[in-house]
Amino acid sequence: MPELPEIEHLARTLETALPGALVRNVSLLRPDIVRCTDRRSRRPQRRVSRDDLLLGRRIQGLLRHGKELAIVSREGPAICVHLGMSGQLWHCPAGTRLRRRDHVHCVWHLRAPRTGRPHGRLVFRDPRRFGGLWCFASIQELLATRWSQLGPDALHIRTGTLRQALSTTSRSIKAALLDQRLIAGIGNIYADEILFAAGIHPQSTASELPAARYRLLAGTIRRLLATAVAHGGSTVRDYVDGHGSAGSYASRHLVYGRAAQPCTSCGQLLSGTTIAQRTTVFCAGCQALFRQD
Ligand SMILES: [Zn+2]
Repeated sequence: MPELPEIEHLARTLETALPGALVRNVSLLRPDIVRCTDRRSRRPQRRVSRDDLLLGRRIQGLLRHGKELAIVSREGPAICVHLGMSGQLWHCPAGTRLRRRDHVHCVWHLRAPRTGRPHGRLVFRDPRRFGGLWCFASIQELLATRWSQLGPDALHIRTGTLRQALSTTSRSIKAALLDQRLIAGIGNIYADEILFAAGIHPQSTASELPAARYRLLAGTIRRLLATAVAHGGSTVRDYVDGHGSAGSYASRHLVYGRAAQPCTSCGQLLSGTTIAQRTTVFCAGCQALFRQD
């Protein structure tokens, strides 16, 4: 599943193509992947119109929080994109063919910012359909509703903010890092990589780390996520960026997917277990367990 580095890199690559573009037409092939929030009741509406999907609007820019991306129009309305397990969002320049046509659910036909010439298509594809599009009347409405449920974004997390978020739970540090309400953007891959890099056992109690470890953990989260962004994120299966290219950070994973292989630091075989229903890989030799018994 795409996590913060993949969505941040996606936003940066789409920033080179989308701002200023006019949405000339929208083809919605699978209406059930779109949710529309009613401004008053805040309940999902049944019918989604192409106006909700920014038809006739000019794209102002992109915003990200955690693993979610927003396409914001100059006129106000915004779309929140969640890639789920297998979602892809990419810009297909004018005059080029779509590289995949199967499982394409929504296509925005664009016109260039100044010239008004055809500017290609923005394509949303999602074979497993765990992702989707959410329409909002404004970015403020998205921030006040859907994104207000999320914790602080992990990319620039400060020690105090992290410590405060983790102090509220007696769950394991692995489960806490995966909880988007506590801290937004970290999923199974980066949780394992971050805990290995910070030398913290995944079954440590989130609220029981020594003070210095919160500082180390916050620094590790910022550094590791930023490095992953710089490498275009991790493509384990389906993820591609806004140009349709895969990320290369998966080749740098030190623990994720490496259970029973030697630790790159001490040589001991890495352990595999299940925490919060997710496969978890760690080194029992390098990662210290902090827990009150
Ligand atoms: Zn080790």
